[in-house]
Amino acid sequence: AKQPAEFIWFNGNIIPWKDATVHVMTHAIHYGSSVFEGVRAYNTTDKGTCVFRLNEHNQRLFDSAKIYRMTIPYTLEQVNNATLDIIRKNNLKSAYIRPIAYYGDIGMGLAVPFGQETELTIAAFEWGAYLGEEALQNGVDAGISSWNRLAANTMPTGAKAGGNYLSSQLISMEARRHGYGEGIALDRNGFISEGAGENIFIIRNGVVTTTPKTAAILPGITRDTVMTLLRDKGYEVREENIAREAMYLADEVFMCGTAAEVTPVRSVDGIQVGAGGRGPITQDVQEMFFGLFNGTTEDKWNWLTPVYQ
Ligand code: PMP
Repeated sequence: AKQPAEFIWFNGNIIPWKDATVHVMTHAIHYGSSVFEGVRAYNTTDKGTCVFRLNEHNQRLFDSAKIYRMTIPYTLEQVNNATLDIIRKNNLKSAYIRPIAYYGDIGMGLAVPFGQETELTIAAFEWGAYLGEEALQNGVDAGISSWNRLAANTMPTGAKAGGNYLSSQLISMEARRHGYGEGIALDRNGFISEGAGENIFIIRNGVVTTTPKTAAILPGITRDTVMTLLRDKGYEVREENIAREAMYLADEVFMCGTAAEVTPVRSVDGIQVGAGGRGPITQDVQEMFFGLFNGTTEDKWNWLTPVYQ
């Protein structure tokens, strides 16, 4: 396979992409014992290449590790700096960045010894629109999955842990098998939870609603960004349980995440949402969001960290 970038940050060293390999007995391969992040860097008009919400992403990496009592043998500041270093080393203008902390070849025991340190790697490479450029314009057809999202107190959805993504794979593979662009899962109470890798927003009569943090979601950083931008512009944004049929009756639905950015949903379960394309408020959200990078939205929140200056 073509390698996506030249170098990887690997346990404190920057090494060639092809050399960044692990042993087959790596604990995380067997048990899903990893925590990770997905971060983007944009080539901005005003400040050159900038990482978007760098500290929040890496803080969530440490939060995910804390939930699983994992010890990442670096400080948050070191991980932030390493993230910038690997973008620079690969000379990237824009990037998708994947820090991952995981248990390596530490033996087969499920009960990891107290204080066991994780490995840490950070990859950075160029990656386009996750659901496609066309989807950003015209929206995706989404389907509700027959798979529920993880129930409360089974596996914590608030941790971005490797094992959780078996659930996401079931949801997204089923969706594609049924011809949908993306799948959306209900929580165990039957309310909307999230997409395979995106949080969900619906709009009706100008009011924007997203699922609450109790609905088995990963509390997305893009979700927080979108809520902040909308409220800043005077929109009413609610965090409430969303019934499945509320998606059918919405004027607009969109999904958001670091990879998917802000993607309109034009139908759910084959039922057209609103006018069936990208709605006006969704377009406004996209303009505010991408405006952070093309200079038309003021970065009042200090969300951008320049890479090369
Ligand atoms: N939910 C899940 C399951 C995800 O994998 C992601 C992507 N990290 C999100 C929501 C969105 O989170 P964020 O906006 O922080 O990327």
